[in-house]
Amino acid sequence: MSASDRVTWTACPRCGGRAAVGWSPEVAGEAVVEFDCTGGCPVPLDLARAHLRRPPGPAGPR
Ligand SMILES: [Zn+2]
Repeated sequence: MSASDRVTWTACPRCGGRAAVGWSPEVAGEAVVEFDCTGGCPVPLDLARAHLRRPPGPAGPR
C-alpha cells in the first residue's frame, strides 16, 4: 500500500511529462507526500509543492 491516499496527475515541472502526485488527507490542507514522474525525474517534494501551488489556470491559448 502506498502512503498516499489519493493520486492525481500533473505535468512534471522538470520535463513536462506526466507525473503522479500523492496527497495525504492527514495533513492539513492536503499536502503532497509523493511525486513520481513517469520519466524518472528526481523531483524534490518542495519543488512539487511549489509547482502545484500555482495552478496552470485555464488552458493556455494555443
Ligand atoms: Zn519529469
